[in-house]
Formats: sequence, C-alpha cells, structure tokens
Amino acid sequence: MWRGAGRLGYIFPMRELSEAEFHRYARHLILDEVGEEGQARLLDARVVVIGAGGLGAPVSLYLAAAGVGTLVLVDDDAVDLTNLQRQVVHMTDAVGRPKVDSAAETLARINPGIAVERVAERLTPDNAGRIVAGADVVVDGSDNFATRYALNDACRAAGVPLVAGALSRFEGQLTTVMPDADAPCYRCLFPETPDPELTPRCEEAGILGAVAGVIGTLQATETLKLILGLGEPMKGRLMLWDALDMSVQEIRYKKRPGCRACG
Ligand SMILES: [Zn+2]
Repeated sequence: MWRGAGRLGYIFPMRELSEAEFHRYARHLILDEVGEEGQARLLDARVVVIGAGGLGAPVSLYLAAAGVGTLVLVDDDAVDLTNLQRQVVHMTDAVGRPKVDSAAETLARINPGIAVERVAERLTPDNAGRIVAGADVVVDGSDNFATRYALNDACRAAGVPLVAGALSRFEGQLTTVMPDADAPCYRCLFPETPDPELTPRCEEAGILGAVAGVIGTLQATETLKLILGLGEPMKGRLMLWDALDMSVQEIRYKKRPGCRACG
C-alpha cells in the first residue's frame, strides 16, 4: 500500500489535539484506523481543491468538516444563480461574489479550526506547478480537459496524488493518479482530448445536482484515505457510476508506453 513519499510519510512528532478538537472529531477518534494519530495527520494536511463548483463544493465541505488543516481553493469564477442547484457550498446571498470568497466563508462557519487559502486564478500549465507545490493531495473538480491535463502533468512532476472526478447528466466518474513510478496517469487513460461533443460541460448538457454530490463525496473519501494511509486508492482504476440504474462499473487502465507525463 502507498504510504506517501513526502509529507504524508511524517508521523512524529504528533500534534496534540485540544479539548475542543477531541470533541469535534470524536467519531473519527473512536475509529481504530484513524485515532489521534490519524486526526493529527488530517490537521497537518494541505489539500488543494481545483474548482469551487459542483465537485469542489462537497469535496471542500467534507474535508473542512473532517479537519483537514489547510484547504487551498482555486477558482477564478463568481457565484451565479444557476450554480446553486448543485454547488452547495454557496448560499443565495453569495450570487455575484467570487466563489473562493463565498466558499471560504461557508467553510469557516463549518470549522473555524482550519485554514482556507483562496487562489482566485484559473489553473493553467504556467501556474499549475506553483499551485500544487507542497500539497499532500490535489483534488480535481474542474470541468474541462485542458485543466485536467495541466493538473495531471503538474501533480506527476511534483509527486502529489491527484483525485480526479468528472460529471455529465446522470453519470459520474472517479480515478486517482498516484505519483508512484509504476502508476498510470490521466494522459495514459485519455491520451487525446475527447471530442467536445462527447464530453459536454454541465452548462451545456445539464446535471442532476445530487450526482455532483455523490462523486464529490467519493473524492473527499478518497482524499481522506490517502492522508490516513488507509485502504486501496483508485490507482489505475476508473469508476463509472450511473445514477439512473444505480450501477457501478470499473475499468482498469495501464501505463501507456511513451506517455508524455509519466512515461
Ligand atoms: Zn501517463
């Protein structure tokens, strides 16, 4: 099992939990697999969330509630009334305001004991390296292939695991790009940008709001597992979830020889 190459490998000296933290995280602490040491790891972790939208909302809500110590929210957009049907971190009175500000305020109300950093930028190949630097895990909640590729390349280069999710209509998908030498990456899975007509964005194709909640919550779960060193990550596996027939399919994918990001 992957134990983390960098900061996640750190165990001691363990951070001491405060009295309030013992209460807040009590249901984590009674899990043998988490305990005080696991909670201290969460509190010391830094997670970068790309997009404060349909996926970023449930991801950031659950990671904040779980006590992930530093959340970095990356989004250059403002809250629109059409977002509120699924982007549950934003309240109605936030319409028109920057998404990073709106989300940071909600997260502070859920858990004032964590830090939320706001990056009101669009992720590009030029700034991706700086944005993912120092992260323990990066979560992709973006809605386009250009961002996904830029993020994949930056995370591979930085040796940071990337939890990728995507949505369309009544379906969602999830995979994790691990930094291990033998792990395939997002470009191994999708070497070419798929036809935009086959992969329309939510604005064009529509999305049942709760579907975003399911996939984002799975991304949050995968992120917590990675920080805690629990279970098996979605390495080389793509999960396809269909809400209409409530079915789950898993596709295994391998490293592609000559891949420009991980080959
Ligand atoms: Zn690759």
